[in-house]
Order: sequence, then C-alpha cells, then structure tokens
Amino acid sequence: MKHLFLTAMILIAPHSARAFDIQQVQPGIWAIEGPAEQRSPENLGNNATFGLIESSDGAVLVDPGGTWAGAEALHDTVRSLTDQPVTHVINTGGQDHRWLGNGYWAAQGATIIASADAVADQTARASMQLTALTMLVGEAAAGTDPVHADTVFEDSYSLTVGDRRIEIAHPAAAHTPGDSYVWLPEERVIFTGDIVYVGRILGVMEFSNSASWLEAFAAIETLDPEHLVPGHGPATTLAQAQADTRDYLVNLRNRMRDHIDGGGDIIGAVEVDQSGFAYLDQFDALARRNAQAVFEQMEWE
Ligand SMILES: [Zn+2]
Repeated sequence: MKHLFLTAMILIAPHSARAFDIQQVQPGIWAIEGPAEQRSPENLGNNATFGLIESSDGAVLVDPGGTWAGAEALHDTVRSLTDQPVTHVINTGGQDHRWLGNGYWAAQGATIIASADAVADQTARASMQLTALTMLVGEAAAGTDPVHADTVFEDSYSLTVGDRRIEIAHPAAAHTPGDSYVWLPEERVIFTGDIVYVGRILGVMEFSNSASWLEAFAAIETLDPEHLVPGHGPATTLAQAQADTRDYLVNLRNRMRDHIDGGGDIIGAVEVDQSGFAYLDQFDALARRNAQAVFEQMEWE
C-alpha cells in the first residue's frame, strides 16, 4: 500500500492535473472537475467545475480558475488534453473561481468574455473575494489581480471558433447576478456555471436570487441538452440537474411560501422541511442557511 501511495504522489507531482477529475463529454469537449471542498493552498481556489472546448483553430476555456496559480494549474491540464492554444476564456459568473484566474489568461493573450452583470458583480465583490482567498489559499494566491473581461455582452453572445459554434447567454440572475451558460447547439452540450449544482447542495447567498434562478434553469431546460456540465459536480444529464438543483429550489421556495403565508418568522424558517434533499453533500452545513436567505428574499416578493 505504501508503495502504491508513493507512486500516486509522483504521478500527481507539482503542476499536474492533481486536483482535477476529467470527463470527456463529446469528442474534444471536456468537463474539468475541481475538488468539492473549501478553497485551500492545495486546490489553489479551483473548487469548481471548468470546461474545455477544442476546435480546429484554438481552444475555449469555460471559467479561468480561482487564482493566478490555479489558472496555471488548469493550463497544465488543458495542455494534457489538447495541443490547441486557449484563444478564449468565458467567465460564467461572479464567483472567484469564475474570474479571478483571468489575469493569467490575459497574459497568455486570450480573449476574455463575460456578461455585463457578471463584470458588475465581480467589481463589487473583488476586494472581499481577494481578502477571503488570501486567508484560505495563503501565499499561493500571490499574483492574483482583478482583471475583467475585454468582451462584454448584455444578454447573449455567439462566437465561432474554428469548427465550433458557441452560444453564451445570461438568462437571469441565479447563484450570482451575472450567471451565464455556454451552449454548443451542434453537440448539444451545455456548461451551466453556477446555475446548476450536482451532488452538492447549492448555496443561496445574499447576492443570489432564488426566484429568477428558476427562470435561468428553465432557459436551460428549453434547450434540451444531451450533456450537462454543472458549475459544481461531474458532467451529467438534465434529469440529474433537475433533481439536484431545480427540485431543491422549488421545494424550498414552496415550503417557504407556506411558512410565510402562515405567519411564520425567520426563526421558524430554518425548520422548513428540506429532508428530501439530505442526500446532497454539505446539506447539514448549508440547508438552514439557505432557508434563512430564501425567507429574507421571499418576505418581499
Ligand atoms: Zn461556484
């Protein structure tokens, strides 16, 4: 056992794909799944799922990594999958792992694309995010500067890279105000960013919008994707995303509506029944906090 362990350590030596689980969803299209854990010096802030689209003339990265060093580690993984240079990087939202690696990719000459709402959210939260990253990732966060997209769109943006047609859309605010999905209509693959969490309970934060999150999810359903790469978790199906993200939100909002209509207060709000979703990772840590956030939003709906 000890020998096996040592071999594994050598295989995952520095600057390798150590923390990533890679899934090919179609030829030349991959999900690059970071660890489902808090940001740390080991994962370099890459605690999310990223995407890679190879084309006949360049490669497109869906989300840049959470730090400069995280982006560099992601680049090593990209190189192990394709010889094409990364020509475009898409930011699917405003969370740190959706944009704080931008500086590295800008230095490589890539075009960086994001929705205007995502850029506004990134700008508003940059200093808070950098403070948190420095605490959690430590010295490995060095060199990480807030660099924003050079190509910014309002609702949607289409591009053709080599032989790939790529459609980016920001349907509505979801986990963050500027969340977007990336859709490949010919391959029927969607990268959802933080609109979809699979296997792990989603987080309703003070900057989230649980009502329009369901609208964003419905926009994804309309496309009827064959392969879905979530913002957190492994590549999966629309049905799994419906179970773990849509149904979770619908249950929480329906129960909260009953609670509020019955005169319930915020103390009782954390007790609304979410037990059907106790199978999700981090349920115990986040379910009650989500309930509190949804109560605060729904009080005013
Ligand atoms: Zn995220």
